[in-house]
Amino acid sequence: MPIRAHCTICSDFFDNERDVAAVPCGHTFHRACLIQWFDTAPSRTCPQCRIQVKPSRGCPSLLLRHDALQTALRRAWLESRSQN
Ligand SMILES: [Zn+2]
Ligand SMILES: [Zn+2]
Repeated sequence: MPIRAHCTICSDFFDNERDVAAVPCGHTFHRACLIQWFDTAPSRTCPQCRIQVKPSRGCPSLLLRHDALQTALRRAWLESRSQN
């Protein structure tokens, strides 16, 4: 089954090649994209919904656990299905 979730920073779909990270609001991005976003953004906000992200040194809390990623991808897949 194709999972069409994608990183809204670079617009590429998620695959197994690149690490994925999530912010507390549940949005997911490539980890490298998210780290670069936090490096360049004036404040730590979610790139997608602009909610304030709790500051943390070196973004260790942004590392996404595997089960959380599966949940996020499954939710995105269900949302894309329900639109048809
Ligand atoms: Zn990306
Ligand atoms: Zn968000």
